[in-house]
Amino acid sequence: MMNYNVDENGFYGEFGGSFVSNSLRESLEELKLNYLRIIESEDFQTEFGYLLKHYVGRPSPLYEASNLSEKFNARIFLKREDLNFTGAHKINNSLGQVLIAKRLHKKRVICETGAGQHGVATATACALMKMPCRVYMGEADIKRQFPNVCRMKMLGAEVCPVKTGTMTLNEAVNAALADWEKSSSDVFYVMGSAVGPHPYPDMVARLQSIISKEIKQQLVEQTGRNCPDYIVACVGGGSNAMGAFYHFLDECHTKLVLAEAGGKGCDTGMTAATVQSGTADVLHGSRTLVLHDKDGGVADTYSISAGLNYPGIGPALANLVKKGRVSAYPVNDDEAMCAAFELARLEGIIPAIESAHALAVLPKMKFKKDDIIVVNVSGRGDKDLETYLRFVD
Ligand SMILES: *Cc1c(COP(=O)(O)O)cnc(C)c1O
Repeated sequence: MMNYNVDENGFYGEFGGSFVSNSLRESLEELKLNYLRIIESEDFQTEFGYLLKHYVGRPSPLYEASNLSEKFNARIFLKREDLNFTGAHKINNSLGQVLIAKRLHKKRVICETGAGQHGVATATACALMKMPCRVYMGEADIKRQFPNVCRMKMLGAEVCPVKTGTMTLNEAVNAALADWEKSSSDVFYVMGSAVGPHPYPDMVARLQSIISKEIKQQLVEQTGRNCPDYIVACVGGGSNAMGAFYHFLDECHTKLVLAEAGGKGCDTGMTAATVQSGTADVLHGSRTLVLHDKDGGVADTYSISAGLNYPGIGPALANLVKKGRVSAYPVNDDEAMCAAFELARLEGIIPAIESAHALAVLPKMKFKKDDIIVVNVSGRGDKDLETYLRFVD
């Protein structure tokens, strides 16, 4: 059987690794030596498990969407990560990483955010655990995701606007990494997705793997089967996708499908469809698939969804795509918007624009009547209402 796990050097096949300056090597080495021991310890499992249940509200429901099922003539289940406290899957990862930071005796947290969901989740975890928190966010995202900026400030976090390049997620990650490089060893970087240098991609995937663990149990209860035919998830860096796929990676009967942000179209230059058009390169400390511009630099990406607007994907997913275990569909802005309205009207659920990309894959696929499809609804749409309403006008 194919092995999709990370190796001891932090590689997934040809992707991954740790390409960082000397000043970060020590912090990463410390994390690498300790993260598995901490995550697997009884003490961590007890505290993390308690918080996931009583603070986040897990398990999140697995809901059989009958109206959507009727429309696509198959059994469609929605994994409701949108119902988590703070409105997305991000809180699973933020709580886990801040618990790890505590156990490593760190005094302060920095992070980056795109749509603001990771910033809000990390600011929440930091308030709870009495950690000062600094969030880097692109100026363009600050404008389009303003409610989340207000939430972070109310939670006591410092929000630092990033004004370089496209002023979105890519530049926010650059700014956060630059800050981390010059910070002292008592600062912990809470990475928001399954990206970055080893061991972040593996650590984040493990913290998010609760999603697929629950899907397995819930499917058995509701259908008598423990594996669906398909799991569909949107991908920015890949944390909700890795979480939803994790416990199914070796179940070759289950097809794993990514929805990536096509933006205005893969051939328009206004896109973030990394799997479609990316090539191998080093981005944010790991070797992975990266979108390039015609001069070979990292491309300026575009998507209507701030959370998917990223020029790379995590190295684990890059490897899974390369090995043929995971397939990807680009979804354009307007297709995602239509899928969001469809879910709202058919099921009464307003998804995040990110999650709407996953739903928009359904009409692109062919199903059999008995097929079981799980779509990961990574977050809720409250933050996106303004964008949705502008689309209807
Ligand atoms: C951040 C975010 C994403 C994209 O990030 P991944 O790491 O790829 O999961 C998707 N959906 C929502 C709701 C988000 O907040």
